[in-house]
Amino acid sequence: MKIVHAAGELFPYIKTGGLADVVGATTRTLAEYGHEVAVFLPGYRSILDHPDMVNAKRLCSFGVDMGSDIQKGEVLSLNIRKNLTLHLVCRDEYFDRSYPYGRPDRDYDDNAERFIFFSKAVVEVLIRTSLKPDIVHCHDWQAALVPILVRIEERRRASAIAGKTVFTIHNLAFQGIFPRKVFGLTNLPDELLSMDGLEFYGQVNLLKGGILFSDSLTTVSPTYAREILTPEFGCGMDGVLALRSEDLVSILNGIDYEVWNPETDPYLPATYSVSNLKGKNACRRALLLKCGMDEGYTGPVFGIISRFTQQKGIDILLETKDFFSGDRARLILLGNGSTEYRRRSVEFAKANDGVVYLGPRHDEAVSHLIEAGSDFFLMPSVFEPCGLNQMYSQRYGTIPLVSRVGGLADTVVDIGEFPDEGTGIQFPPSDPEAFRKALERAVTLFEDKKKMAGVIERAMKKDFSWKTAARAYEKLYTEIL
Ligand code: ADP
Repeated sequence: MKIVHAAGELFPYIKTGGLADVVGATTRTLAEYGHEVAVFLPGYRSILDHPDMVNAKRLCSFGVDMGSDIQKGEVLSLNIRKNLTLHLVCRDEYFDRSYPYGRPDRDYDDNAERFIFFSKAVVEVLIRTSLKPDIVHCHDWQAALVPILVRIEERRRASAIAGKTVFTIHNLAFQGIFPRKVFGLTNLPDELLSMDGLEFYGQVNLLKGGILFSDSLTTVSPTYAREILTPEFGCGMDGVLALRSEDLVSILNGIDYEVWNPETDPYLPATYSVSNLKGKNACRRALLLKCGMDEGYTGPVFGIISRFTQQKGIDILLETKDFFSGDRARLILLGNGSTEYRRRSVEFAKANDGVVYLGPRHDEAVSHLIEAGSDFFLMPSVFEPCGLNQMYSQRYGTIPLVSRVGGLADTVVDIGEFPDEGTGIQFPPSDPEAFRKALERAVTLFEDKKKMAGVIERAMKKDFSWKTAARAYEKLYTEIL
């Protein structure tokens, strides 16, 4: 099949969260299966500066209507590996910036323009290059307009641009909601600015376009697929999603074993496997040292790598100050987020100096060391579409403590409920007391060396490989074509 993906992030070129990892692993695996895969991405400055880009070639220049203006751009293409091409949609005015979506406390004011332009460019390039993909697979609000733009352009030209469109919701909390006036930039028919179209409480909602107008709709875990149909988790879109509930397919994310594998991980001071965990101890010592702690510390080490936002349950974590004040545990935090959360985390670490360590805002290398060197990994999320770190943790023999929501519920088996199958600890979301109990359970488990070893072994043996997810996407594509 000829498959095109359009997204705002792609590992290893640009990443703010799981979207990048997921798009990177899906597209690579589909290419390995022999499909001809192309990924469209905004030409952010950080990608243009990536060493790989010396091999990029100019594919075309183009102009797209943005309201009454014509805006120009160009596409640089890079063959990443066999069957996998990256197309960068470049326009310096929009993408020559330090961050993809905005500064930590504020999104860029022109995000509507930027991503409407990006979506239009994708469709324009498909037309110009006559690529005629079988599937156009779009991710999250940044690319959510592509499915409807494809169909409107096809109608206008009376010729096909693509076979079927697929839209994946990676996180319903981000919808691309903008003032009504930006609708003019889409050049879509006026009737689409209605309840049956992109209109959402008097504004424009780009994600709604993807939900309503794609041929197939997917999300990233079975539990999340059920949750988002409820008012509690639906972020105001449960009614819209109900219209498509019959078409909503869940495909659980996997993890990329080329990037997240303790047997080969180049970021680790020592590699290890389920049959030889010596390297994990070396990673633990290296992590403690890096964080200015005693490398000979014998109690449990907890790690967390997260976007510090309300979604990730950081408030609950910061309420457990006294648990992390004495000598019974160590906590290593790595997180990017708003100035306010950063300030509170800095205070938390300062108040518990030597026990709690706060790392840099974003660091790929440190994130691998935390996964390998911690004994437990914390994910007290309020909601979690899929989550990746709980899977990385299990792969790395680091026991996850997760709230029982979304993909966390689908990928971690609670050792209390299932003593012979358990791979982690679950607790109800948004409940500081339940979280504290989970921490206590972890300490008790840590003291029972035999039981702990059994949980580590089971966790490391679990199969989270991308093959399952990629095959599921392949099957979906085939079914809808
Ligand atoms: P989300 O996409 O909601 O942020 P996921 O669990 O799906 O959450 O994916 C998060 C990804 O981003 C993981 O690969 C995680 O390791 C990475 N990540 C999050 N915060 C940081 C950070 N501060 N430094 C490095 N990597 C991070």
